[in-house]
Amino acid sequence: MTIKWFDFFPENPSNPARTDMQNGIIEINRQAFNLLPEYTRRFVIQHEIGHYVLKTLDETKADDYALSKMALKDPYSLRNHIDSVYMLARDDVKRKQHALISVLTVMAGLGDKEAIELLKNR
Ligand SMILES: [Zn+2]
Repeated sequence: MTIKWFDFFPENPSNPARTDMQNGIIEINRQAFNLLPEYTRRFVIQHEIGHYVLKTLDETKADDYALSKMALKDPYSLRNHIDSVYMLARDDVKRKQHALISVLTVMAGLGDKEAIELLKNR
């Protein structure tokens, strides 16, 4: 995996990163990236790897890829996943909802009764 650093993306100043789907090179917009918390920076990298590995432009699939790589590896990883998606998705409500369901699914898999109930009642 190769990362190319840019001072900023003139055409999309608030986008922290993007991936060249041809070669998997991840381009980082330093100006936007450096504003993100440490966990979210790592999330962004995994999300971009997800786009390339899964050969998809779907944001929720890239989010789920990042979750699969990062969930339960750090304290508060599930909370940090939600926070990261909320920070990056802006007005994309479906993407935010998807992140909540994905985290609940991880929790249900761990036997969390409330998460199991919430998913059942959707
Ligand atoms: Zn993306």
